[in-house]
Amino acid sequence: MSIDLNDKTALITGASRGIGEAAARIMAACGANVVLVARSTSDIDRIAAEIGDKAVAVACDVSLYQDLQNAVGTARDRFGSLDILVNNAGVIDPIARLEESDPGIWNQCVDINLKGVYHGLRAAIPVMKGQGGGVIINISSGAATGAIEGWSHYCATKAAVLSLTRCAHKENAQDNIRIVGLSPGTVATDMQRAIKDSGINPVSQLDWSVHISPEWVGKAIAWLATDAGRPYDGDDFSLKTEEGRRAVGLIA
Ligand code: NAP
Repeated sequence: MSIDLNDKTALITGASRGIGEAAARIMAACGANVVLVARSTSDIDRIAAEIGDKAVAVACDVSLYQDLQNAVGTARDRFGSLDILVNNAGVIDPIARLEESDPGIWNQCVDINLKGVYHGLRAAIPVMKGQGGGVIINISSGAATGAIEGWSHYCATKAAVLSLTRCAHKENAQDNIRIVGLSPGTVATDMQRAIKDSGINPVSQLDWSVHISPEWVGKAIAWLATDAGRPYDGDDFSLKTEEGRRAVGLIA
């Protein structure tokens, strides 16, 4: 299946590794200009240089609204528009039962996983409105609707992100701004390595071979950004199901 993102500009948060890196590379291969943002500047600089002229790297901490505003501004200055925002940046630390969790790190997770997504929506929506439309993909998780021990911060923030997806869709659908979530299932990234090392819940016991590749998720993100993703607007699209994987063209 060919995915056409020619003439589109996509901003991907958390593009220094894992799902975000794969999404940036795949969206660029589908024709999009890509703006890679993360805190690890040497990694996004290297990945952007490997992609070439269609890519630019911007240092950004999504917990800071000003950083996201700046990244959105760079997308417009460099490529003339912002058509797709992928709110992907996220953290799993501190994996710990509630009574043992570090309040400072727990709060930091809220700043990144939840407020980071709000900051992206807040910075992108007015620009997309001015342009006549756009697509925002919020990376969700099964944790948005399930309770997992040791992940109170992660489950709570992902549930809140699903709520943001629904609210943002309700407010912006009439302005041709699509907001959709993507729940990828388990993915072979550094985050999943940290989960395994924690040994704290059944997800940490999963055999590594059950995790899907970040490239599968990157392709699903690119696909969701096209009109094919419209039926899922305002909710989470799941890549855990055969139906979802077939829709994206990952399995026959
Ligand atoms: P990962 O390999 O650990 O990558 C996380 C990315 O988020 C990195 O690029 C990191 O960049 C970025 N990030 C973290 N804090 C940031 C901040 N304050 N500002 C900007 N960027 C920040 O994780 P991943 O597995 O690719 O996860 C990506 C997304 O998928 C997350 O939202 C995660 O919750 C979700 N997800 C993952 C899985 C899975 O099984 N892996 C399953 C469901 C959902 P820097 O550290 O360089 O800033």
